Amino acid sequence: MCGIVAYLGHKPAWPILIKGLQRLEYRGYDSAGIALMHQNRLQVLKKKGKVDDLARAAQNYPTDGSQGIGHTRWATHGPPDDINAHPHTSGNQRLALVHNGIIENYALLKKALEKEGHVFQGQTDTEVLVHFIEELQHREQWPLEEAVRVALTRITGAYAIVVMDRDDPGKLVAARKASPLVIGVGNGEYFIASDATPIVEHTKRVIYLNDGEIATVSLRDNLQIRTMNNEVQTPYIHELDMEIEQLEKGGYEHFMLKEIYEQPTTVADCMRGRLNVEQGWVRLGGLDDHLARVAQARRIIIAACGTSWHAGLIGEYLIEDLARIPVEVEYASELRYRNPILNEEDVVIAISQSGETADTLAAVELARERGSLVYGIVNVVGSSIARLTHCGSYIHCGPEIGVASTKAFTGQVTLLSLMALVLAHRRGVLAESDFRRLLLELSEIPGKIAQVLEANAQIAYIAGEIKDRTNAIYLGRGYNFPVALEGALKLKEISYIHAEGYPAAEMKHGPIALIDENMPVIVIATNKSAYDKIVSNIQEVKARKGMVIAVVEQGDEVISQLADYTIEIPPTEEPFTPLLSVIPLQLLSYHIAVMRDCNVDQPRNLAKSVTVE
Ligand code: GLU
Repeated sequence: MCGIVAYLGHKPAWPILIKGLQRLEYRGYDSAGIALMHQNRLQVLKKKGKVDDLARAAQNYPTDGSQGIGHTRWATHGPPDDINAHPHTSGNQRLALVHNGIIENYALLKKALEKEGHVFQGQTDTEVLVHFIEELQHREQWPLEEAVRVALTRITGAYAIVVMDRDDPGKLVAARKASPLVIGVGNGEYFIASDATPIVEHTKRVIYLNDGEIATVSLRDNLQIRTMNNEVQTPYIHELDMEIEQLEKGGYEHFMLKEIYEQPTTVADCMRGRLNVEQGWVRLGGLDDHLARVAQARRIIIAACGTSWHAGLIGEYLIEDLARIPVEVEYASELRYRNPILNEEDVVIAISQSGETADTLAAVELARERGSLVYGIVNVVGSSIARLTHCGSYIHCGPEIGVASTKAFTGQVTLLSLMALVLAHRRGVLAESDFRRLLLELSEIPGKIAQVLEANAQIAYIAGEIKDRTNAIYLGRGYNFPVALEGALKLKEISYIHAEGYPAAEMKHGPIALIDENMPVIVIATNKSAYDKIVSNIQEVKARKGMVIAVVEQGDEVISQLADYTIEIPPTEEPFTPLLSVIPLQLLSYHIAVMRDCNVDQPRNLAKSVTVE
């Protein structure tokens, strides 16, 4: 995880780096630091805490220089403190380095380096890497880029790094393996960052560094990219399609709230150009060339983590229900390590908001090796998963900055809904009238999400009633079972209340033992197909004095009599209910977290883009 930003040019580097780190703070925020180069001096300022703490702490120090590297950390090795914060420097104080990822063989290297006389200040794996580069540079008298290249051929693990050398000013060396890096090319200046958000306000011309590549940017020799084997690569410059307004809060108190409210637009954006109700078609450009193979797949395996995994579960219901292709949903971290049966008859769908999730990326690699066709559902354009998959579709929801995913989830579910319809149509397993009815309904979802958002004040009131509880149970059936899991995850993530999601009928097999007057039970009770069953489940909770908050369809009279609180959503076709029923759960966890004074956008211990295993 963590965010990296670097600048080389003619402007003051400090404000560019601080602002860049603020934009990247969603990736990690336990400590932050910046190293600046000025008049052949290297100055490092680093601090436990947020980027703002760093900015405050730096007020008494000079921050001159137009070259520098910055980092906001999500600790893996060593506690988050001032010493372990990045940038790390070499023993001779010549090199400064920032790193995202894990150096797996750091312990062995550290021992060897200690024998050579290296002394380490902290516990990070990163510090070992910078000493190792120093050692090679010193021993072989290599230029920085060569010492970096050779060092990287001898380490295992994942990394994105940027290094600079006090004795070789006007140059930055960056490299990546399994962690993202983007290079912005300005007018006589360069930017390097973990994603494009710190770059977009300076230039829209970017290069996505590929795995196993090393870039040297220099004020003298411009830009050079090489592979680990020292082969020169021709960089390809992309034009960024991102506006600064998308990165600001736009009047909302938190990014999460803004992103919840963006959903009528983002879901519509996800469908734009992909569905036409009048003409009765739906298509996904990314699927066109491979449609026959996907439609005939023996099996579809969906690989994802966290919220994306919940979207994947809904995808299973959608694709099996509408397109009649068997689907399995796997945690990417399990799939990759359990020697799965995968071959060319299978299709793997990898879902990841960032497109950088380490486990999902590894699952994609594995599926490719085994001959499966891999389709990516990703938000971040140009990300690793987007580039490694055979084909795929973007969900087009714009940058998601709140760590708890909201609009990316509905984007993923929308995309999977479109996909299920494309496949159902192609396979001829859905009557034309049903197909048309579903198309029309899907096209109306953005307007219905806007209606659900009108319940915000009521949901805030309910949040006040349960904010002091220590546990919560979420129940749902069928399409709404994954929504129950997602609702529980949202609550855990941002309010630190322990919550569990369960298929409603499973409650009797264990969780019912937990129910008493202190237990709020949030029931998604919109399913037409299992309505009576869910009414019985609510009765069971009430009989044990549990507090019931029910999400119901507008006009429901039975459940509103039973439940303590009901939140209404507009009626829709059952396969699309998750797109509506999840919205009140997002708002509920948001308000509870705000009332509990939690940091909504940057919950403790979490980071947005999980680029470590
Ligand atoms: N492994 C490094 C550390 O613990 C980098 C972690 C990160 O990606 O922020 O400092």
